[in-house]
Amino acid sequence: HRSADVEIVESLLREVPDFPQPGVLFRDVAGVLASGEGLAAATRAMADLASELGEFDLVAGMEARGFLFGAPLATHLGTGFIPVRKAGKLPPPVLAATYELEYGTATLELRDGTIPAGARVLVLDDILATGGTASAGADLVERAGGTVVGLAFLFEIPGLGGRDRLAGREVRSLIV
Ligand code: AMP
Repeated sequence: HRSADVEIVESLLREVPDFPQPGVLFRDVAGVLASGEGLAAATRAMADLASELGEFDLVAGMEARGFLFGAPLATHLGTGFIPVRKAGKLPPPVLAATYELEYGTATLELRDGTIPAGARVLVLDDILATGGTASAGADLVERAGGTVVGLAFLFEIPGLGGRDRLAGREVRSLIV
């Protein structure tokens, strides 16, 4: 049944050339979110995909589209949800991780004290590209005291080194 759900999700994904910069092929999930059938299919399919990683207690979603798919998944599975946010959005105490982008750096933050020691955490985002974002998110979860059971994505762009950047971790993508 996962394949039927994946087909629905795939049919609702769009490619937008040269956004947000020339040369970038933007993978747009807005159509998946805008469709009741699409959001339900994405949630069921991600739950099925995540079940390959064993049991977990929390879903950690990466701002912002990781929130939009992660919170419905957490509700569907009955787990809690941890937002990994861009710097400056969360009140203290926070843990911060800075990572390299193609040009410059980015910083992500996680609210310290929100992950019980040893809690098993699934890290989720919509797209895996270079893996920098998800890698920083997984590091934050571990520094906060959680155990990362794996990382799950709706869509993986191959050839950008994402799998290498996440080497040693369990990585699952619905669509490559
Ligand atoms: P990265 O850290 O390079 O793996 O990039 C992942 C983050 O950037 C995710 O939060 C994605 O939502 C976003 N992203 C990167 N590349 C794309 C793309 N081609 N289309 C849409 N979103 C992207």
